[in-house]
Amino acid sequence: MLPVLNREYTINIDAMTSSGAGIGKVGGFTLFISGAVTGDTVLARISKLNKSYGFADLLRITSPSPFRRTPPCPHFNECGGCQLMAMSYDAQCEYKKGLIADSLLRIGGINCEPEFFPATDQLRYRNKMVFPISSEGEWGFYRSGTHQVVPLNDCLLGDSLNADIMNCIKDFFCAEKLPPYNEFTHTGILRRVFTRTSSITGNVMVVISVNADSIPHRERLVYMLRHTSERISSVILNINKRKTNLVLGDRNILLYGDAVLADELSGLRYDISSHSFFQINHAQTEHLYQKVLEYAMLDKTKTVFDLYCGIGTISLCAAVKSKHVIGVEIVPDAIDDARKNAENNGISNADFYCSAAEDIVPELIRRGECPDTVILDPPRKGSDEKTLDAILAATPERIVYVSCNPATLARDVKFLTQGGYTLACVSGFDMFPQTKHVETVCLLSRKDK
Ligand code: SAH
Repeated sequence: MLPVLNREYTINIDAMTSSGAGIGKVGGFTLFISGAVTGDTVLARISKLNKSYGFADLLRITSPSPFRRTPPCPHFNECGGCQLMAMSYDAQCEYKKGLIADSLLRIGGINCEPEFFPATDQLRYRNKMVFPISSEGEWGFYRSGTHQVVPLNDCLLGDSLNADIMNCIKDFFCAEKLPPYNEFTHTGILRRVFTRTSSITGNVMVVISVNADSIPHRERLVYMLRHTSERISSVILNINKRKTNLVLGDRNILLYGDAVLADELSGLRYDISSHSFFQINHAQTEHLYQKVLEYAMLDKTKTVFDLYCGIGTISLCAAVKSKHVIGVEIVPDAIDDARKNAENNGISNADFYCSAAEDIVPELIRRGECPDTVILDPPRKGSDEKTLDAILAATPERIVYVSCNPATLARDVKFLTQGGYTLACVSGFDMFPQTKHVETVCLLSRKDK
């Protein structure tokens, strides 16, 4: 019996999608139910029906899953940030490990049992936060799929100092009668606030993005923030007058302290500017990079490609252990950072190219570069056939693939296994506890080796 639109059904949830929605069946017909978790029995109303699947709205949990817990954050039901917080941490890890294994099997046709590395810190692990401001001047996060700000008292994923910083900025802008920005009318001043905490010093950089060339009484804002905490080491006013969703505009005015925040990763030092990308979960990134190096099996005779290298953090760890590293990245600022980071750490055997991987990798191979190991860490959409073909043509002994999207990883792994490589090892890392995201590292080795 097929489900009927707007009718209510009792449904057992036996799996979850990669975006964290529950999956259940009515008369063999698949339904997706947001807010339900594996093991629940729920009462839900059918809201949309397609040919082979549909959606239902969760009305009531009639029998809660044994994997459920009370979410530690009181904002869980409204805020769109943490999709899995209603599940125990063990269940979150099982779910993520399952996502990797399922994708590799379903898309890649490969059966495997990934190793999985849970995070030690399941809360307060994020070193970076960006808070939007509501039209009423409240700070918070967007409700899932909207630009409606859910006001928060705290976000349990970030530094506990963030709440004090945000309340201080809110008080200042309110007292100065500087209204919040409205993205529809492009009026108002205060757009978003960005904070970043250093894992070595605990220092915090505060960047306030405004739709104005400046703001009055800046010294009072600095005074108020410095009195909020001694850990605040920079206060930056970012000028963002464009009609854009980008958090930061191009121009910074340093109001107090340093223009960069010092941090360390795998024993190397980084000066991070407000615009630089830096991994947000410090502890898990160190574990992830250790695994990358373990799979890469480097020594001082080896040449390494690090594709999609960002600011070169993997490249520099690899450079310490190999003869030569070539890093490739499409964003010019990231490449500037990578070169500076290499210099600051006294590393001279890493060269960085600013280009699309699909353009430069075939060119590098044609020029006779011969990598022993290729590391690649592409964005969510994965790599592409041009880049992967060039990697296959170079016949490296090892390919270490780092991915934030199991589906595109599985697609690319399939391509590489059809090109003469075997999937030797798979490790999952929980870089983002409470959320649906998972990071995977795979080792592919040449079949003839
Ligand atoms: N390996 C880095 C960052 C990986 S994120 C780290 O661990 O920190 C993926 C990176 O790929 C981003 O920096 C993005 O700018 C870059 N990128 C996206 N498309 C690209 C392409 N076609 N060629 C090269 N780099 C690309």
